[in-house]
Amino acid sequence: MILTVRELTDRRCSFVVEGTSPDVVNAIRRTLISEVPKMAIDEVEFHMGPIRDEQGNEYDSSSALFDEIIAHRMALVPIPTVLKDFTFRDQCECEGSGCPHCTIIYVMNKKGPCTVFSGDLQPLGDVTLRVKEELIPIVKLKEKQALLVYATAILGTGKDHAKWQPVTVCGYKYFPKLYLSSMNHKDPENRYGIWDAEDKKFIVENLDHVDLCHKCVQTLEANNAGPEPKFDVAGRDDKFIFSFETDGSVKAKDALEYALTLLAGKYDEFRDQISGLDKKKS
Ligand SMILES: [Zn+2]
Repeated sequence: MILTVRELTDRRCSFVVEGTSPDVVNAIRRTLISEVPKMAIDEVEFHMGPIRDEQGNEYDSSSALFDEIIAHRMALVPIPTVLKDFTFRDQCECEGSGCPHCTIIYVMNKKGPCTVFSGDLQPLGDVTLRVKEELIPIVKLKEKQALLVYATAILGTGKDHAKWQPVTVCGYKYFPKLYLSSMNHKDPENRYGIWDAEDKKFIVENLDHVDLCHKCVQTLEANNAGPEPKFDVAGRDDKFIFSFETDGSVKAKDALEYALTLLAGKYDEFRDQISGLDKKKS
């Protein structure tokens, strides 16, 4: 399998993968979506009763939204997650009681009138855990309204809830091949390319931009004076263009590395189980 990265930023990754099959590429897609973890707020504790500021002014612990809706909105805020720094709570050495390896606690203390944003979530301790997307609105507070909450973020995967799914847009397409349909489908000269009407020859140019909608075929045939040759386009089932984005909580490179490592581990485990079956038979 040959993997060539075409674009890589913190949030976006696009690569061409060659020498594999659709089921393997689809397994990468499914793993990226449902098994790459991230930190997300799972418990929110709301202060009840009056809240006082430094000047002694009193505010109500209330807002226009139900607490459940505010908690839900907070849960969907992307929490910065360096995957190697965190572990699942039920696998942590603290045995689930909560520690810096499996838990982040945020405080949100706001008094109206104002709009409460995701950036108002302040981590207890490590300031690098501040939310990067600071302008996601959570709720608006009116005069005399206030919000004081403690929010606990833990690691999870998209299998359990979409709030733990760092990979958002994710998909692949078959790498296109253009060929003369009057020739053998498996063109021995491998003449994939774009028809150059002026020079009357094939040129290979941005072939990966070609979709399989056949618009290029119509253009090629319109530019071709004679009735022959006929062109066609198809997808290769051994080469794919794969793209995905993250919500910013996990870096795209980290997400891909995690997914590929996880998948390789599963294949290894499967291979071991199969070899175990052989031994049992003998
Ligand atoms: Zn722990």
